[in-house]
Amino acid sequence: MKILVINCGSSSLKYQVIDMPNEKLLCKGLVERIGMKGSVITHTLVGDEKVRTEIPMKNHMDAISNVLDAVKDPEYGVVKDLNEIAAVGHRVVHAGEKYSKSVLIDEDVVKTLEDCIELAPLHNPPNILGINACKDLMSNTPMVGVFDTAFHQTMPPEAYIYAIPYEMYEKYGVRRYGFHGTSHRYVAERASKMLNVDLDDLKLITCHLGNGASVTAIKRGKSIDTSMGFTPLEGLVMGTRSGDIDPAIVTYIREKKNLPEGETNKILNNESGVLGISGISSDFRDLEAAVAEGNERAQLALKVFAHRVRFYIGAYIAEMNGVDAIIFTAGVGENDLGIRDLVCNDLGNLGIKLDVFKNKIKGKESIISREDSRVKILLIPTNEELMIAKDTYEIVKSF
Ligand code: ADP
Repeated sequence: MKILVINCGSSSLKYQVIDMPNEKLLCKGLVERIGMKGSVITHTLVGDEKVRTEIPMKNHMDAISNVLDAVKDPEYGVVKDLNEIAAVGHRVVHAGEKYSKSVLIDEDVVKTLEDCIELAPLHNPPNILGINACKDLMSNTPMVGVFDTAFHQTMPPEAYIYAIPYEMYEKYGVRRYGFHGTSHRYVAERASKMLNVDLDDLKLITCHLGNGASVTAIKRGKSIDTSMGFTPLEGLVMGTRSGDIDPAIVTYIREKKNLPEGETNKILNNESGVLGISGISSDFRDLEAAVAEGNERAQLALKVFAHRVRFYIGAYIAEMNGVDAIIFTAGVGENDLGIRDLVCNDLGNLGIKLDVFKNKIKGKESIISREDSRVKILLIPTNEELMIAKDTYEIVKSF
């Protein structure tokens, strides 16, 4: 059964066609600069070369239409007719408190996602545009919504309620939601397979360290706490995001610098994190290179980043009364051995011992802890698209 997976951003769109249940990736692609000059689609048939075509795409409907053309292209496509696509799985960022699992998309679901626009103004609108464009172009094909927030709906109230007046929660939905759920769930399932232990018998800490970064405590397969909150700004230090700060800083810098409305938000989201500390880059490769040349602020940025990850790991060990495995995933977690080393350094008393030789690996599923480490340390490349395809398959397979 061929499943099309769509991850629709405001000006870009990623897609894959995956054959299920054998989990075989058939083709994938990226549309960039939707609605701008020089919009381009890059399509790759697995095992073949990339095809890059510049086509004017003035909106998401045009973008999806070009994706479907690529998918059924006689030379580079994977189907002869779009009817061969059994279902479409859509990544959606925010589903509020309504959905704790992936669901078949109908009018009610779209309405709920529209209601959540206030909570995710940058992400939900393009996600909805992608759904609507697919509905128009493939009206008989079932669609499934897979939500970043859904996995974290199992958090207990003490983990998601902020200590601010309760009416903020009741009236405006101000609570911790958590994000990256699809990735945390995927690596937890893989960890259970790698360790050959049922998820029900595992306490896991999953560290999704990419440009955006979050840590999740997973007990018996359920998220019980996660570092991102009301928005993806809370928690870890990230590429350009501050993560946790004293909230009093917001008004203090606004007054000190006499900043216009919205400017503090921009600083905390786009000019902070390791970029803000180092003044060099949000990309950890650039920071590692700068450290090699003796740049102290780049070194400080990496140390602050690792310090915060360790802080959450310690907190989640306390919350779960122990941990069986710590998992590293996403761009930094999968590739930056220096960060994994900094995070796991000197945790022997907690039973966490990284093997420095096994740690010399990038982007490949592996166990990187020492034989005598009570807690296993795993490197697991994330695959959110596959998780979306799996959920979609489970929902539509009996149709
Ligand atoms: P996102 O999906 O949030 O954009 P990714 O998970 O793709 O992010 O991670 C991207 C980040 O991973 C890059 O910004 C860079 O900091 C880091 N990264 C990628 N490759 C490497 C590498 N080889 N070494 C160190 N860091 C890397």
